[in-house]
Amino acid sequence: QWCGALLMLDLDNFKEINDTLGHDMGDRLLQAVAERLRACVPDDDTLARHGGDEFVVVLKDLGATPAEAAARAEEAAQKMLQAMRAPFVIDGGEPRHSTLSVGIAIFQGQHESADELLKRSDMAMYEAKAAGRDALRFFDPQMQAQMAERVALEADMRAGLDSGQFELFYQPKMVRGQITGAEALLRWRHPVKGYVSPAEFIPLAEKCGLILRLGQWVLRTACERLAHWQEHPVLGQLTVAVNVSPRQFYEAGFVPQVLEALAGAGADARRLRLELTEGLLLQDVEDTIAKMVQLRGYGVGFSLDDFGTGYSSLAYLKRLPIQEIKIDRSFVHEAPTNADDGVLVEGILSVARHFGLRVVAEGVETQAQADFLRQRAPGIVYQGYLFGRPEPHADWLA
Ligand code: C2E
Ligand code: CA
Ligand code: CA
Repeated sequence: QWCGALLMLDLDNFKEINDTLGHDMGDRLLQAVAERLRACVPDDDTLARHGGDEFVVVLKDLGATPAEAAARAEEAAQKMLQAMRAPFVIDGGEPRHSTLSVGIAIFQGQHESADELLKRSDMAMYEAKAAGRDALRFFDPQMQAQMAERVALEADMRAGLDSGQFELFYQPKMVRGQITGAEALLRWRHPVKGYVSPAEFIPLAEKCGLILRLGQWVLRTACERLAHWQEHPVLGQLTVAVNVSPRQFYEAGFVPQVLEALAGAGADARRLRLELTEGLLLQDVEDTIAKMVQLRGYGVGFSLDDFGTGYSSLAYLKRLPIQEIKIDRSFVHEAPTNADDGVLVEGILSVARHFGLRVVAEGVETQAQADFLRQRAPGIVYQGYLFGRPEPHADWLA
């Protein structure tokens, strides 16, 4: 059953405007507010004036779970709060500021009555008022806590980036017993929580836009290491792979950003490899190809990450300038024991062979997995705990 949200919106200083400027102006303000809200609500959802200076929004299809619906309702509500922040100018008069307090109740199917949902969102709206207005609150305390946690994490992340709490770890890629390169994996050394996994903070960084600064830091740091290694007879032969987020990749300045990181550090572009996910490639194929071809012209290599997990369209394998695909570890893990996964891995290997692509097996943990792969592709690149865990730079060098 799909989840939705009922939002109760109340203007924060309407009474004051109404009392000082008169009801005519009050009415015009309400109309202006309604128009801005309408721009934030999808056409097939509902926006209604509930009376006085209250509006109600019903968002229907927000996802399969209440948590997902909460995240999306929050996003929508933030958009509405944001839409109010520009001043209202009515009849060429003085600009007026008006903000909203928003209460949110999540529903799933039709368990609760409309009255009950209105009551809940109303209660949450009063919490938003009590919290200082121009704010949103959830009726469900657990959802509220999750939101507060996200907001705190985001602030921590910004502070952490400014104070040098991020590090790159390096994990070896091996071919026939030799190290050929490393994947740089981001780590956040949080002062209280210790090392936090990128799986926990990258999605949030994507959402709040911090990924742009974070991604730039990763690129610069990896290029500096690369330049440093170049002077060493063995390290100088290795590649470094950097993960790139969709939002970062689609930024207008992505190509110059990569080139600057390389030039700034004095690193060889041919030793840098960018790991992209399938999802990213499918968003805007023409723009993607243009950017890849440009970077490829400087020698930068491309890997297709988590291969097999997305809505794989094999057609782009022949259109995109990629050199390497990485078989997702979910297939690698099961390949020796599960016939379906084994066949999938064999299929990927044969497609890769046909297109002349190098193959990396991710997450190789056991000898049985390595044997399965070696028997079918002797030149395969292994990456996984069996060969080496991601380590801080000093340990990696040692
Ligand atoms: P990924 O690109 O698929 O990276 C491989 C992940 O698998 C890493 O997790 C690595 O530590 C883990 N791994 C390696 N070998 C094994 C193994 O044998 N068994 C198992 N179970 N796991 C193994 P990590 O470091 O937690 O990174 C998670 C994801 O975070 C990465 O997945 C990547 O998508 C993202 N990420 C990491 N660093 C960055 C970054 O600098 N920028 C961006 N945008 N994303 C990053
Ligand atoms: Ca990767
Ligand atoms: Ca991967």
